[in-house]
Amino acid sequence: MEVRASLRGEGGTNVPCGECVGCCVSSYHIPIRPQDKQALAIIPAHLLVSVHGQPNGHAMLGYLSDGTCHMLSAGKCSIYPQRPQTCRDYDCRIFAAAGIDAGGPDKTVINKRVREWRFTFKGEAEKRAHCAVQSAAAFIKNNRASFPGGRAPTASTGIAVLAIKAYEIFLKSDVHTKSAAEIANAIIKASGEFDAGLSAP
Ligand code: SF4
Repeated sequence: MEVRASLRGEGGTNVPCGECVGCCVSSYHIPIRPQDKQALAIIPAHLLVSVHGQPNGHAMLGYLSDGTCHMLSAGKCSIYPQRPQTCRDYDCRIFAAAGIDAGGPDKTVINKRVREWRFTFKGEAEKRAHCAVQSAAAFIKNNRASFPGGRAPTASTGIAVLAIKAYEIFLKSDVHTKSAAEIANAIIKASGEFDAGLSAP
């Protein structure tokens, strides 16, 4: 699954964005890391802000009052070849895969795009995996209290990413016999295994 490879840091996804610049007009703060050397060389320093708790050398690129990224110009990214890795990795198909919106009113443009994505499946296994991602996202969204310390993501990106990392829990035939707490713990474990590179591609 291309998105899972991207979440592992194995390269950005190849999203067919077309003319859509939804992620550039949707009030996202873009993390800029020291590795974003080309972006750092071209983005004016006064547009970068340090955020409390960020490691040294990391910063955020903010946006205008209407939610538009400072680097968007005439409807296009003005630094496209040098854009930060976060922009290269952004894939709004994760929301479509998880069956959720990207967010509230400030994500209206992306939400419209999310609802337009259509997936094709090579077979029953891929169809089942897609259903499992959606089941995982719905579970995470609706069962926050069942996670240890109530710590489950509440933002759409966190929910979709966790669902994609841990969807295999919902492929198991006995998942419906488990308590919500058992499922939540299994999701945390599966996510940890994903991050450690121990789960399937
Ligand atoms: S840096 Fe470019 S690609 Fe990234 S959000 Fe801004 S305009 Fe969009």
